[in-house]
Amino acid sequence: MLLLLAAAALLAAAAMAGYRWGHAQGLQALREDTNHRLDLFATTAQGRISRLEHSAATIQLHPAVLALYRGPARHRPPERVAAANDLLHRLNAHQGSTAVFVADERGMVLASSNLDQPDDSQLGQDLSYRPYYMEALSGRVGRHFAVGTAADAPGYFFSHPIRDGDRVVGVAVTKVSLADIDQAFPLLGTPALILDRNDVVILSSRPQWLYTTMQPLTVEARVDLELTGMYGNRRLGRFPLPLPLAWQPDTQTLDQVLQPEADNLSRDGAGLLVQGRTLDGMDWRLLLFSDLAGVRARARGTGAMAALCAAVVMLVLLAVLQRRRAARQRLRDQQALQRLNAELEDTVARRTRALTDANRELRREMAERVQAEATLRAAQDELVQAAKLAVVGQLSTGITHELAQPLGAIRTLAGNAREFMRRGDLDGAHGNLAIVDTLVERMGGIIHPFKAFARKSPVEPAAVPVAAALRSALFLLDQRVRAERVEVRLQLADAGTGSPVAWCNRNRLEQVLINLIGNAIDAMHGAPRRQLLVEARTLDGERVCIRVADSGGGLPPSVLAGLFTPFFTTKPPGSGLGLGLVISRGIAQDYGGDLAAANRPEGGAVFTLWLPAARNPLLP
Ligand code: ADP
Repeated sequence: MLLLLAAAALLAAAAMAGYRWGHAQGLQALREDTNHRLDLFATTAQGRISRLEHSAATIQLHPAVLALYRGPARHRPPERVAAANDLLHRLNAHQGSTAVFVADERGMVLASSNLDQPDDSQLGQDLSYRPYYMEALSGRVGRHFAVGTAADAPGYFFSHPIRDGDRVVGVAVTKVSLADIDQAFPLLGTPALILDRNDVVILSSRPQWLYTTMQPLTVEARVDLELTGMYGNRRLGRFPLPLPLAWQPDTQTLDQVLQPEADNLSRDGAGLLVQGRTLDGMDWRLLLFSDLAGVRARARGTGAMAALCAAVVMLVLLAVLQRRRAARQRLRDQQALQRLNAELEDTVARRTRALTDANRELRREMAERVQAEATLRAAQDELVQAAKLAVVGQLSTGITHELAQPLGAIRTLAGNAREFMRRGDLDGAHGNLAIVDTLVERMGGIIHPFKAFARKSPVEPAAVPVAAALRSALFLLDQRVRAERVEVRLQLADAGTGSPVAWCNRNRLEQVLINLIGNAIDAMHGAPRRQLLVEARTLDGERVCIRVADSGGGLPPSVLAGLFTPFFTTKPPGSGLGLGLVISRGIAQDYGGDLAAANRPEGGAVFTLWLPAARNPLLP
């Protein structure tokens, strides 16, 4: 808003300055032009008048004129007067003046050029009151404006004394018409006027200005004018424009700007330039009134131009400023961008460092975790092995029992064989040793599965026929099954696909099965009906599901809740560690399977073991 106001003010100032300058320039040009015209007009007017300046002097030299003054005035011969009249008439016609006449020392006209114009002949008139007459009578050359008494026509009068020796005897007068000057006015193109020595307008392009005075006449001047009859019988009015005449004393010129209020001289009230000069060798002054409308119009044009220029300059300035501002803004933006970039780089560097540190930390933690996992796995393996050995320990009674019978038999057979050899019955001894051989083989058959079960086996998965693993488990538990008189029922064949094959480790599967079946046998201890049901089938070709169900007391809610918790056992100390189910589920999960427990509706517990099915079973 402020900027707009400032711009408007600047425009106004420029317009004003332009107007002022234009006005001054226009005024100067007008001045020069008017001066030129003034000079031209003045020269013309002077020429017209001064051409006849010496005419009066010439007249008084003429013998025919001089003859009029010789002899007594009363007896002036009429032929002399006629000769003088004739001379003056011819002279007048020749030189183109208005009238030429001579007067005697009392002011009476003696001879005149205009006898043919009775109303302008001056003949017999009394000129004694005329200033030009008095001037000449006193011996000087007179030059005066006056309105002629005879024809009431204004003219310029040159007068010259006519001497007889040293004595002035009369006056010669030449009247010059001012009509030529009047006619020249229109050539000026502007209103003009000529003032005489009384500041009375004697000639003007505007008739209404004629015989008006520029300043009020003093009473003396009025009386004087009345007396000299200078303006005939005309009443002098007041000049209509308020023009205080301020003549330059040194150059006798006038240059004033007039603001006319009620005059229609100036178009749109622009005012008038009044210029004047004195006509050389005369007491006349020429005034020219030039309309300032043109100057004003030109000044307006200059003002508008200046405003336009200022507007253009301001626009250019604005554009430059805008460009600079835009450049500065760009620079600032660039710097901000660079700063941001630097900050970003810094942040990125810091983050990268932090990330690298975090990464290193993570790697370290990962390494630790891997280490911990390895340790855990080793511990788990050790645990599994420990659990396995615990089972072996539990089964050792059975094994001992199994081995006791063949051992006893071997001892007997060995004793008998020794007796047979002492008697020399080698065949008998041989027969006994053969039986011992068979028995040892049988004992090896008993021990071998224990050895296989107890050893640390590789845990890599492979295709394991569930039936084989179950047979091994039942073999190891055979002694207990028989001791508890448990009825074992197996359902291992899938319809159409044969026995299921799981993708796990055989030794581990046997361990899980021994656990589940061992628990089932324990649970059925003392139960009226002891029935173990083991089912295995393949679900969707994806998973193998093995169910171990018993007819024991089932799982009360408290047991069900803590079943898979380490060291949870309901068995008396020394009988159970409370780890079997935990380890079994761990094994199942290791191979991507699971283990769950539930109660059977008909009584007893059922454990369901899931394992992934071998994709391409190698065995039926
Ligand atoms: P342990 O046999 O050493 O006690 P387990 O983890 O094998 O450890 O079993 C935990 C407990 O789960 C057993 O003490 C028993 O109370 C209960 N249990 C396991 N199997 C059965 C089952 N078939 N019927 C009833 N209870 C069972």
